Amino acid sequence: MRPDVADSECIGPARVRVEGDSPYSLDYQDIYHSADAEREVERVFIGPCGLTEAVRQPGTLWVGELGFGSGLNFAVLAALCMQHNRPLHLVSCDAAPLHPQTFADIAQKRSKRLPIYAELAQAYPPLIQGWHRRHLAGGLITLSLYWGDAQSALAHLSTHAGRRFHAWFLDGFAPDRNTGMWAPELMTKLGAVCAPNATVATFTSAGRVRRALDAAGFAMRRVDQRPHKRESLAGIYRATGQAPARQGPRQATVVGAGLAGACVARALAERAVAVQVLEAGDAAAGGASSIPLSMLHGRLLADGSSEARLRCHAYLYSSHRLRTLGILPDTGALQVPAGNMTSQRLRDLAEHYGPTGSWLQPLDRLEGQQRMGWALEHDSLWFPDSQGLDMPSLCKRLLDHAGIEFIPNTPVDAIATPTEHPLILAAASASTHFPATRYLELSDVHGQVDMVTMETPPLASLLGNGYVTPGQTPRTAAVGSTYEYTPWDASRATEANLQRLPESQRAGAQSIGHARATRCVSSDRLPVVGDVYDQNHVCVPNVHVLTALGSMGNVYSHYAGEVLASQICGEFPPADESISEAWSSLRFRRRQARRGYRLGAQP
Ligand SMILES: Cc1cc2nc3c(=O)[nH]c(=O)nc-3n(C[C@H](O)[C@H](O)[C@H](O)COP(=O)(O)OP(=O)(O)OC[C@H]3O[C@@H](n4cnc5c(N)ncnc54)[C@H](O)[C@@H]3O)c2cc1C
Repeated sequence: MRPDVADSECIGPARVRVEGDSPYSLDYQDIYHSADAEREVERVFIGPCGLTEAVRQPGTLWVGELGFGSGLNFAVLAALCMQHNRPLHLVSCDAAPLHPQTFADIAQKRSKRLPIYAELAQAYPPLIQGWHRRHLAGGLITLSLYWGDAQSALAHLSTHAGRRFHAWFLDGFAPDRNTGMWAPELMTKLGAVCAPNATVATFTSAGRVRRALDAAGFAMRRVDQRPHKRESLAGIYRATGQAPARQGPRQATVVGAGLAGACVARALAERAVAVQVLEAGDAAAGGASSIPLSMLHGRLLADGSSEARLRCHAYLYSSHRLRTLGILPDTGALQVPAGNMTSQRLRDLAEHYGPTGSWLQPLDRLEGQQRMGWALEHDSLWFPDSQGLDMPSLCKRLLDHAGIEFIPNTPVDAIATPTEHPLILAAASASTHFPATRYLELSDVHGQVDMVTMETPPLASLLGNGYVTPGQTPRTAAVGSTYEYTPWDASRATEANLQRLPESQRAGAQSIGHARATRCVSSDRLPVVGDVYDQNHVCVPNVHVLTALGSMGNVYSHYAGEVLASQICGEFPPADESISEAWSSLRFRRRQARRGYRLGAQP
């Protein structure tokens, strides 16, 4: 694990004073907007960038922004796109975003005029450094926010996005107070992701901003802003001869219809890719995803490692994604100390992530008891978005999309490389059954979840020594799960699961059924997501993998599906390099060169 991200994982909020729905920056001693804020957005950005006409064209409109602020440019443009039914992907960054509570207060006031603010306040990410992708307005509007400095955001875009941006809004604080946001190198990077004839607009008319944009390939002009102010700048990208952004494929094949396959298939179908999902069994969710009640739980680490970043981002994205599928958090979950997650480590988690938003909250013992309806021995951490999920129904819901053809009873036993269209192996440990992938170090761990009847079922889910989550019928709960390297008999597993109930709740609890399955894990317990590599570490074209989700399929699948679909379609993934490296299968090739093959993997 790379410990290099520890210091930057959580970022401080902007220091602001808010009057009405208008923030004022105490850090930059500058306003976020003028008094006629929404008109100003149209006058300075939308009009001069030619977007009033552009929203009438077909296809996704890609707009970049430096300085998300209070989200006003986004909200006004999103409203225009919604009016014309034009898909929008707005990518914005902010090194000191508003605190989620401040944002929620402002959003509430603005939502009467711009209804998307209500949805955005729900979806607004906590102050965790990195990429946060949000799907709004039924999927018509996508917002990718980078919390962190503009240099890093643009470095990521220029590596992964290609020349796809149709317009850029430069909306940082005034250039004399915020020099980094207007640096010439930044403008050059910005030019590198512009589609031909892309437009740019900024409220400033500073000569050095104009010169930097000129040098980056934009033909700039002054825009008369009287009587509001003298002038602003707008321009058009004139550099020619560069390759356009890569288009996504028309078709793709996914092998395996568990949660991993369903998530990536859905993310591709939403990008207008025609997807065939080939499944060995006679229905979706026949493998580990057959578990009827399992937890969405981030199992946060906060140790500064890439894995900690991965878990945190995957949890935040997946909680949001589930909402967009209409699966709203119901009971929430309490994490109590257990095993090596001691009370101190839980306190450390609360201290680390607590200031970033209300997505996790420390509770004292009595508060926890109230949420749970059970006596508790310790303080706990409350996760409002964590919940028990019906994975089989979720798989079916994800596969239910006009762009997905689900083909059951079709075991795939060979793949021809090179393949014409992208092929995604999401067949759990069977993903290694092909010459191109047998270097993957995967194995199966068996497990069981029990349904129990209880005198006093929990009001919320309990996480600690496994999980207990309210059942789908009165007076029941699901409790799990065992982790069996070689399969146990079911009664032994039931016994072990009943022991997971707090002592005060064990009397009278009875198992009324169980579900058994095997989860696929990798040799280092991290997922395997992305490209496949040959022995020379060269990428095998068009073959991808998404597996080894271990006991965290609910957390990893949605995020990994979105990241992988973005990569396959030539878009930038909402994952920074530390995450992409952590779950890349190249790690096995590198290690194998040093220490040989594990878990039956072969060259
Ligand atoms: C007891 C237990 C409890 C769990 N609890 C939780 C929990 O609380 N929270 C959580 O997040 N996760 C939990 N998990 C883990 C979670 O279930 C998995 O991470 C997730 O379901 C993995 O999804 P998958 O799509 O990768 O694999 P699977 O669901 O196993 O899907 C793989 C699919 O590929 C198909 N397939 C295989 N070979 C081929 C082939 N050659 N051709 C075509 N199709 C093929 C299979 O039939 C299967 O449908 C639990 C797992 C178990 C076993």
